[in-house]
Amino acid sequence: IPACHRFHTSVQCCQEAVKENDEGKTYEFQAETRMLLDIVAKSLYSEKEVFIRELISNASDAIEKARYLALQGKPLDSTEATMKIHITTDKYDKTLTIQDSGTGMTKEELVENLGTIARSGSKAFIKQLQEGGGGDPQNIIGQFGVGFYSAFMVAEKVEVYSKSRLPGSVGYCWSSDGCGRYTIEESTDVEPGTKIICHLKLSCREFADEQTVKGVIRKYSSFVGSPIEVNGEQA
Ligand code: ADP
Ligand code: MG
Repeated sequence: IPACHRFHTSVQCCQEAVKENDEGKTYEFQAETRMLLDIVAKSLYSEKEVFIRELISNASDAIEKARYLALQGKPLDSTEATMKIHITTDKYDKTLTIQDSGTGMTKEELVENLGTIARSGSKAFIKQLQEGGGGDPQNIIGQFGVGFYSAFMVAEKVEVYSKSRLPGSVGYCWSSDGCGRYTIEESTDVEPGTKIICHLKLSCREFADEQTVKGVIRKYSSFVGSPIEVNGEQA
């Protein structure tokens, strides 16, 4: 468990010097993102299960986008890939993995989409905090949702393997413990699309349980456009 998740007292742990011999693979989150992540990771918000809804909705969006590009006649890698969302759980590793064959992300898109805040709701909330407006930190999560970052409510580390469907793309692994920084490294054997591995906190290991995950999907994601499989079976 990263120190900052064990001692939820300050963002101090996020300010250690960047490791030497890093070869430029470490990036700092944008200041606003850091604030949001800090709130999310410390959150006592009780409905943590919504992170599954958020990741499924992103996977579904990416699949829809890929479908749209294909219809427009854009050349895409592996058009034959099934447009399913694959979820796998591993109780022993305490992981929940969600994989899609959507658009995938280039390195620049990983930095842009996962390192900065684009959601208008989250932006407005952070602005309010910065202006000293305060407000209830639990509200942002309940009211607006925090999208991808909600994974850090339950995970001590999140790995995003992604490869853009644009022909000739390279695969990358984006990884973060939610403490101020993330790394991006080139990675081989990445399938076109995106695979997100949530390494669950001990206190959230229930989300590595197949029945729990199926229950959450039934509750929130019944109307998702793409079929969802959990451990190889239709959810
Ligand atoms: P939103 O979905 O409201 O845009 P999120 O925080 O959920 O915000 O996601 C941020 C961005 O990250 C998305 O807009 C998208 O560009 C990118 N992204 C997240 N998950 C995926 C995915 N599975 N495939 C491709 N892009 C993704
Ligand atoms: Mg989203």
